[in-house]
Amino acid sequence: MDNTCISPDDRNEKFLDKLKARNIEVQACFQCGRCSSGCPIGDYFDLNVMEVVRLAAYGQEERLLKSHTIWLCAACETCATRCPNDIEIAGLMDVLRELALRKGVRPAEPRVPVFHQSFLGSVSRWGRAYEIGMIANYKIKTGDLMGDMGLGMQMFFKGKLKLVPHGIEGKAEIKEMLAGKGKEYDR
Ligand code: SF4
Ligand code: SF4
Repeated sequence: MDNTCISPDDRNEKFLDKLKARNIEVQACFQCGRCSSGCPIGDYFDLNVMEVVRLAAYGQEERLLKSHTIWLCAACETCATRCPNDIEIAGLMDVLRELALRKGVRPAEPRVPVFHQSFLGSVSRWGRAYEIGMIANYKIKTGDLMGDMGLGMQMFFKGKLKLVPHGIEGKAEIKEMLAGKGKEYDR
């Protein structure tokens, strides 16, 4: 993280209210570092986990939405499990990703949101992920037509990828729920 001085006066109160509304209490962080030391992919982050929480507590939305970390986080929940203050850190990353998408911030890792949207599009349509459709959508949008082809063929021949999508009961409710989640971020 660069050393630009952050003053509490610069805090974006609207951003802090959005976190509070989702029960993400970043102010409780006392920077013990347990989250950062337990993160399995923290070496690849530009902001480490405790820095993300600290910047969130200071309302530094703009800085956070531009970071690589929010897109690389695998939402494994290890950090939240290790946090002595039960701060919902994986939930915080999720909110930051959604805010970045909704505010049109150019993602630092552009392929990740394309995958994210392909996945959500598939779940919204079928009630669950239809892997072949989801991957086809992702590949068309990224132009990476041949990447991981060998792995995909292996999965196909082992019966892990189905040619025909299978919807589930209640898919209309899931679609509605996903649409409602999107609207939450407009508030
Ligand atoms: S583990 Fe919790 S309290 Fe400790 S630095 Fe991370 S977020 Fe803050
Ligand atoms: S949820 Fe994200 S930030 Fe937390 S430990 Fe897992 S990968 Fe790291």
